[in-house]
Amino acid sequence: MSTVTADEAVSALRAIVGERGLLQGADMASYEQGARYGLGRALCVLRPDSVEQVQAVVRWCAARGVRLVPQGANTGLVGASTPDDSATEVVLSTSRLRAHCEIDVDNRSVSVDAGVTLQELNERLEPHGLWFPIDLGANPTVGGMIAANTGGTRLIRYGDVRHNLLALQAVLLEPAGELLELGRALRKDNTGPDLKQLFVGTSGAGGILTRATLEVHVRPSQSATALVVPTSDAAVLQLLQALERELGDFLSAFEGLSGHAMQAAIDHVPNLRNPFAPEPAPDFALLIELEASGSRTYTGLDLQEALNQFLQDQFEQTIDNAVIGNGHELWHLRHSISEGARALGKPIAFDVSVPRSRIMAFCRAARALVAAEFPFLHVVDFGHIADGGVHFNVIWRHGADQAYDAATVQALRDRIYAMVVEEFGGSYSAEHGVGPHNLAYYRRYASPAARRLAQGLRRLVDPAQLCGSVDFG
Ligand SMILES: Cc1cc2nc3c(=O)[nH]c(=O)nc-3n(C[C@H](O)[C@H](O)[C@H](O)COP(=O)(O)OP(=O)(O)OC[C@H]3O[C@@H](n4cnc5c(N)ncnc54)[C@H](O)[C@@H]3O)c2cc1C
Repeated sequence: MSTVTADEAVSALRAIVGERGLLQGADMASYEQGARYGLGRALCVLRPDSVEQVQAVVRWCAARGVRLVPQGANTGLVGASTPDDSATEVVLSTSRLRAHCEIDVDNRSVSVDAGVTLQELNERLEPHGLWFPIDLGANPTVGGMIAANTGGTRLIRYGDVRHNLLALQAVLLEPAGELLELGRALRKDNTGPDLKQLFVGTSGAGGILTRATLEVHVRPSQSATALVVPTSDAAVLQLLQALERELGDFLSAFEGLSGHAMQAAIDHVPNLRNPFAPEPAPDFALLIELEASGSRTYTGLDLQEALNQFLQDQFEQTIDNAVIGNGHELWHLRHSISEGARALGKPIAFDVSVPRSRIMAFCRAARALVAAEFPFLHVVDFGHIADGGVHFNVIWRHGADQAYDAATVQALRDRIYAMVVEEFGGSYSAEHGVGPHNLAYYRRYASPAARRLAQGLRRLVDPAQLCGSVDFG
């Protein structure tokens, strides 16, 4: 509970971050509304431009019980980056924490401020022939990617953010304002518990991330892409296994796109065409990408030729049809699905994962459940098949037979999550973490022992519950 008035808080915080570092009123709008979920009212938005300012803000807020909500690019999808509706929480945005970006080419690593965005980071790395290969249809910050442990489409090749995190710097909530450095620019370091994991995928519960050291990778020198129609559900995993056997060192993406997902993008996103035209989009397709670094002089490798040959050999065994080539166009289709789905109506999104051996069975069962119990809803599903991830999006279309109502949405969420966790041994939050949007399912599905441990850790790192949005209690 805060011990100061709103006016006192605002003027004290303005004194710390300066005039440019504090927003109020209408200027806060884009910080108060999340990309999909989360809409609240902040006391003010702070945009510190140095670690010292972050430390001073945390100290001041901790001493007076003013709650903080850390925010990066606000592209998170569980409502954890926006304030509640009390107008008492302070959004701590890292948007001005982006001066530092030091690339160590020899070590193939980068030390970077938490507010630097993925796109900026890759622009800085490009002249060195390097990249940070997390790929998704949004432009998050480094801090947000660590707090959410972002996955994306190339996880099978490069892993998630956790796999590429060497070190981090954070401002602690307890003792308030203390600066903690965890890890160094080392790939091997087994000198005790890996404490930096307390900050990864925990939705900012551990403190305010201010800097990180990331492993970066050599940019591929060639890639090959195809959009493939499998002969059956069973063929999908056969094809994946054949790819891993024959071309596994090069496989960088194996994405599933349902017909509804492709059609939503084609119908609603400008300059996007159906790659199968004049045929209609099929019921299901796989976006396959191979990537390789190195010079053809030494490897003699032509990836497109290798992929073409592979697809030809698979024809009629696992593949019915394929569109080969123009990777940019095919990825544009994949990354346009969310926009296309939004244009259809109100998305009810499920970011889930199951063992990949069961992914096609899950999609089929979940679609059947919606058709039987919620026939007025429209499924637009797509996923990262190779890592078991599914974005099982259900759209309450504009002009649907039944008017939108929250109780039905809740019933659908309960049914789908129960199917994922209880029937398929999966996760109700594969990539996006835990926030107000799905906290109830954390409480339902985390075991009592796991919750006790999480509560203990929370008491250790944030005893006063200073960090707003997530309470792993
Ligand atoms: C169109 C679209 C597509 C997406 N696709 C994918 C996808 O394929 N895979 C995937 O994994 N995600 C995806 N996302 C989700 C999102 O981009 C990621 O979760 C991303 O990592 C969030 O980063 P951000 O900077 O926007 O963080 P925010 O949204 O600002 O914050 C996310 C969480 O991190 C915390 N946080 C942010 N910065 C800090 C900090 N410095 N210190 C402590 N805590 C902090 C926040 O409090 C919040 O809990 C997608 C989002 C959109 C809108």
